Amino acid sequence: MAAAFSAISLCPYKLCHQLNPRKHFISCYTPSTSSIGVRRSKGPRKRPDKLEGAGRSIDDSVQRRMEQFYEGSDGPPLRVLPIGGLGEIGMNCMLVGNYDRYILIDAGIMFPGYDEPGVQKIIPDTTFIKKWSHKIEAVIITHGHEDHIGALPWVIPALDSHTPIFASSFTMELIKKRLKEFGIFVPSRLKVFKTRRKFTAGPFEVEPITVTHSIPDCSGIVLRCSDGTILHTGDWKIDESPLDGKVFDREALEELSKEGVTLMMSDSTNVLSPGRTLSETVVADSLLRLISAAKGRVITTQFASNIHRLGSVKAAADLTGRKLVFVGMSLRTYLDAAWKDGKAPIDPSTLVKVEDIDAYAPKDLLIVTTGSQAEPRAALNLASYGSSHSLKLNKEDLVLYSAKVIPGNDTRVMQMLNRISDIGSTIVMGKNELLHTSGHAHREELEEVLRIVKPQHFLPVHGELLFLKEHELLGKSTGIRHTAVSCMVCCGHIFLNT
Ligand SMILES: [Zn+2]
Ligand SMILES: [Zn+2]
Repeated sequence: MAAAFSAISLCPYKLCHQLNPRKHFISCYTPSTSSIGVRRSKGPRKRPDKLEGAGRSIDDSVQRRMEQFYEGSDGPPLRVLPIGGLGEIGMNCMLVGNYDRYILIDAGIMFPGYDEPGVQKIIPDTTFIKKWSHKIEAVIITHGHEDHIGALPWVIPALDSHTPIFASSFTMELIKKRLKEFGIFVPSRLKVFKTRRKFTAGPFEVEPITVTHSIPDCSGIVLRCSDGTILHTGDWKIDESPLDGKVFDREALEELSKEGVTLMMSDSTNVLSPGRTLSETVVADSLLRLISAAKGRVITTQFASNIHRLGSVKAAADLTGRKLVFVGMSLRTYLDAAWKDGKAPIDPSTLVKVEDIDAYAPKDLLIVTTGSQAEPRAALNLASYGSSHSLKLNKEDLVLYSAKVIPGNDTRVMQMLNRISDIGSTIVMGKNELLHTSGHAHREELEEVLRIVKPQHFLPVHGELLFLKEHELLGKSTGIRHTAVSCMVCCGHIFLNT
């Protein structure tokens, strides 16, 4: 083991910690968080060199750092290399290895901020993935949100040509569509998994477990090998009454706890939010209440990927005798994926066509739109300018804002809502209306899972550095002694505190 420590001491970007007398090691390292901005042309483009610390430019010695990390079979047996998604929201992409054999968990994109004009997407460092392609034996996707699958069109070509991609069935429908669009669809590489069914990927026996979130078919991932057991939660909340009946699998976590978890990585998004999240059932009730009371046309806006929420809107439409219309392309993308997977709450062929809106009385319509974040080309935003061909807002309309304003979008969303108010439509939004619930666990849920699993080591993931550190403190308060938080935003290191 002395050899392992001496190898590690060469590398300033990682620290290694001896886990227990069985000589288990975890090594955490940030290879490079350099990101590539992709313009409309879909051609990779280097991100403007504005990042500091861990986000230094791609020329910043990817090769050198890789060589420093290389430890072959002499290094620590369990290795975690976040390529994105630590210390930032989005671009989740994590290499997890047993010695020198790795799997990649998720391949997400990050959406750029306003200070990165012209950049549409930010993807993980595929240079690094390509150079390590011979060591990366599988990709496992936790769920179908863009911050988990969006980089696959760039990551897959960087991998070896036979490396399999594992995902749940709904998630795989989304992946298939994307890969077809990019001309890289190879069916034999795509493997659908089911929760609680074990399979082998690279050096690990993998067992997906059901977690609840804001898109169907989400999984936490258990990775077992002779050197330990790792739990990656994916994105999750605990919805006690999920609309699809697939409950959060506490039992699996309790069993895991008995078995012993060497390392847990868990979603930190809402660690600063007290209490617990609401169930989607509560939102369904609110939608029904407001739609039932409406006299004229109702327009809802929501995240297109929340198929369960679409199911609630459909249920309200049926109960109030309204016909459903989708205005916005991405709504169909997700509904079609659910339809192909056999789990859609709406038959897409029953939707009223956009061009037929005027054929229906306002009281007979329920219109679902994209644009909750006032995205420039999204339906509700265009309608707020009066420049949508398919949706003309008027003062009799009731707009139900069934989403949250993502930090960073506040100003443009407010401007859009002001324009809609100026038209005279009524807008219903805000916490008290219970029209939205987060897909990410609040603090009490996070604490509950920490107390159930009781991992030896804890690495908070999926959040800004502030959130990771707060989650780390929460972990410590539950008695977890070993926690590891990336400090890559400020200095490119991951610290493994003991
Ligand atoms: Zn998610
Ligand atoms: Zn996510």
